[in-house]
Amino acid sequence: MTDAYTRFIRSAPGGALAKQLGLPRPARLLRRQDRPEPVLGPVVVLGDSAGADRIAHLLLEEGADVRRRFEELRRVGSVIVVLDEISSPAEIGPIMLPLAGAMRSLAPGARVVTISRPAGDEDPGRAAARGGVEGFLRSLAHEMRGGGTANGVLVEDGVALDAPATIGALRFFLSARSAFITGQLLTVSGEAGSATENRSLPLAGRTALVTGAARGIGAAIARTLAADGAQLVVLDVPGAGTELSRLANELRAVPIQLDVTSKGAGERLVSFLRGRGLTLDAVVLNAGITRDKLLANMTPDRWDPVLAVNITSQITLTEALIEAGDVLGEQPRVVSLASTSGIAGNRGQTNYATSKAGVIAFVDALAARLEALGGTANAVAPGFIETEMTARMPALTREVARRLNSLQQGGLPVDVAEAIAFLCSAEAGGIRGETLRVCGQNMVGK
Ligand code: NAD
Repeated sequence: MTDAYTRFIRSAPGGALAKQLGLPRPARLLRRQDRPEPVLGPVVVLGDSAGADRIAHLLLEEGADVRRRFEELRRVGSVIVVLDEISSPAEIGPIMLPLAGAMRSLAPGARVVTISRPAGDEDPGRAAARGGVEGFLRSLAHEMRGGGTANGVLVEDGVALDAPATIGALRFFLSARSAFITGQLLTVSGEAGSATENRSLPLAGRTALVTGAARGIGAAIARTLAADGAQLVVLDVPGAGTELSRLANELRAVPIQLDVTSKGAGERLVSFLRGRGLTLDAVVLNAGITRDKLLANMTPDRWDPVLAVNITSQITLTEALIEAGDVLGEQPRVVSLASTSGIAGNRGQTNYATSKAGVIAFVDALAARLEALGGTANAVAPGFIETEMTARMPALTREVARRLNSLQQGGLPVDVAEAIAFLCSAEAGGIRGETLRVCGQNMVGK
């Protein structure tokens, strides 16, 4: 799905005009069907710590074309910068600056990934160095060209640099699955999780529920999880029954028609699952609505449904699933849909931003509760994604919103789905209470 402006800019006369006028020229993003190889080579691993050696070794074992210097490389596919042992800001330059000379050699769709430790309150010099890496990364993401991205993995102190979730996050950021994610840092806070055995079907043998699955992002999530090998339970309101059964037929999924805000929805879901002998390994809380109005015009009929669907239903559904005791698998993954509006706020969206900021805090608290069950809870925060929800925006607002990110285009539902599939995977067990933005480094928020 390409918007009209992008189609024009990619035509010969459109491209020439855009160059002349300095208009945005969004690159074509390579997604998994365009670029199946897990790592775009050659990959250069910078850093001289034991951790850097270990990461280089792991990639070599997987058959990647790994180098430790740029040397005379004319084209570079991926760069991994390992800064786990830095203790003063002065140590960043010598490790990072070789990248300066290689920036013009980065291939279209290149990946830069930093691996470092989060700044804590210990030694002030070390905290400054660690914090500095985040600033570097976020700025670099603004400078990437040709659909390239720059993201970081923050591995908490005490967690091994090669913990399953670090390697999983590294692989995810290096792959085409993270095409619309840039300028983001994902924290690994534990060593839980395990390496994915079957790379082509990472969710084989797992059962996942997706709410709001009949269309848009929810349908893309269901399709992506199914393509990764999961058995699906797809849920939507009775009014979307036709689309839901079509999707269920396509994916051989189990459909359930349920309004998540209806009284007793959680208990009905539990008895539905028990009735079919299903246990859920992943729960994707995607159902969501908007009812935008400035606060001056806000009324309960616009406020209440947004809060009810977008956050209250998530609390009641997860409570019912946890309390039932027999409908969740051994290491359950909950992934919830937040929004960049919940991080930065948005004019006309006091109701929506309240609900989505609530989601971000909710997954953080839920993660602590699920840890006792060996599970995780995380959120993804999409920016501008091309769906029916955003198609309803006024044309000019929509066009501006679409360009206001480092990749100068809207994301696709599948981009959100890919992030969710990663957070549902066995590898991601050490990622807890995080909100991962899928927004092309939207200019709003941090
Ligand atoms: P959409 O309107 O296209 O689809 C939402 C789905 O949720 C629909 O199938 C709808 O029937 C279902 N739904 C709504 N209320 C329900 C209820 N009470 N019970 C069960 N199902 C219900 O929306 P989308 O753009 O695909 O958005 C999906 C999620 O992503 C939402 O949570 C949304 O807030 C979030 N999001 C979207 C964007 C974007 O740019 N599209 C950006 C940020 C966040």
